[in-house]
Amino acid sequence: GQWLGLLGGGQLGRMFCMAAQSMGYRVLVLDPVANGPAGSVADDQILADYMDDQGLARLAQRCVGVTTEFENVPALALDNLSKSIPVSPSAFSVGVAQNRLEEKAYISACGVPVAPHAAIRKSADIDDSLAYLLPGIVKTARLGYDGKGQVRVKTLDEVRKAFSDLNEVECVLEKRLTLQKEMSVIVARDHKGECATFPVAENHHRKGILATTIVPARIDDAMAAQARANAISIAGALDYVGVLCVEFFVVDELGLVVNEIAPRPHNSGHYSIDACVTCQFEQQARILAGLPLGDTRQHSPAVMVNLLGDLWYGEDGSENEPAWEKVLAIPEVKLHLYGKEQARVGRKMGHITVIAETMERALIVAQTVRDILGIGDDDD
Ligand code: ATP
Ligand code: MG
Ligand code: MG
Repeated sequence: GQWLGLLGGGQLGRMFCMAAQSMGYRVLVLDPVANGPAGSVADDQILADYMDDQGLARLAQRCVGVTTEFENVPALALDNLSKSIPVSPSAFSVGVAQNRLEEKAYISACGVPVAPHAAIRKSADIDDSLAYLLPGIVKTARLGYDGKGQVRVKTLDEVRKAFSDLNEVECVLEKRLTLQKEMSVIVARDHKGECATFPVAENHHRKGILATTIVPARIDDAMAAQARANAISIAGALDYVGVLCVEFFVVDELGLVVNEIAPRPHNSGHYSIDACVTCQFEQQARILAGLPLGDTRQHSPAVMVNLLGDLWYGEDGSENEPAWEKVLAIPEVKLHLYGKEQARVGRKMGHITVIAETMERALIVAQTVRDILGIGDDDD
């Protein structure tokens, strides 16, 4: 079989490997860490830094195409690779998604609204003209994830303090919106510009980390169609090739607003493994291999519950494997674990997808799963 190359070794890469392998491809993973979630299921691994020229050259030599699963893979590494082998998504698209200011500029330019915001690059940028963005959130322009690198602010003095606490790196001040709902759309776009969107996912968080995804989102058809159309516009504007996630807010005054994009499969799309004809990882493999996109049709209502490392620890701090046999006794439960050696608080260890005849039933079973495993309520 042909080889597909992957930069990054986390759980997104693991699920990519499995999808590609089930279609007969072999996957070569380049990761600085040996035997991570992806490396341990890959057909072979190159242990190297993302910027290691020799490692990248070996990857390019053996593969027909290279993709990434790691949001902060250096765009320069993708750029270098693309001189000898097809790379998707492109260094350009990944670069845009890696900077919240560029990302928002691109999204607005294709007519899709984003949260009101302003750039903060130096302390002199913070003055009375920003007052309309308060209360707000200061976010680092780069490298934030799971709500890290974000500070909620109510006054300009708090903005100044936040900027200084964030070491005066490039930041964005965003107006804090009252969210009715958070949702996401995953879109797959191939070399020819063909697009396939997945059904809209409704997302709920706990302590800034995705906790539950409900699909289809409980919104009206017009809003769902709008969200899917927006995702296609954004992918088109970037001439994106690959799998892209677009995160949305539903806001009273503004309607649908894009929060951010992720240039890769996304945690909120994991339900597609069990609930759709083609999952987000298979789409990624198909695009890389130059195959037609698969059918994204969802055949069952789904609720995905993330399994964080917290579940491995008792109140006394002792470490125990959660009671999988109890949840697996429920017929609607599909368990996915990422093979991570060490559980840590807040670390994504796996997920459960509840696949049921009706959404009502899926929600009830998801609650039962949470009760069995001792997962608390979502914050939103
Ligand atoms: P991810 O893990 O999704 O990459 P992230 O660290 O990049 O997260 P964001 O998605 O920007 O962070 O924000 C995290 C969460 O904070 C959002 O899902 C939302 O709940 C809340 N949030 C972010 N921006 C705003 C805003 N402008 N108004 C209200 N809530 C917001
Ligand atoms: Mg993000
Ligand atoms: Mg986000």
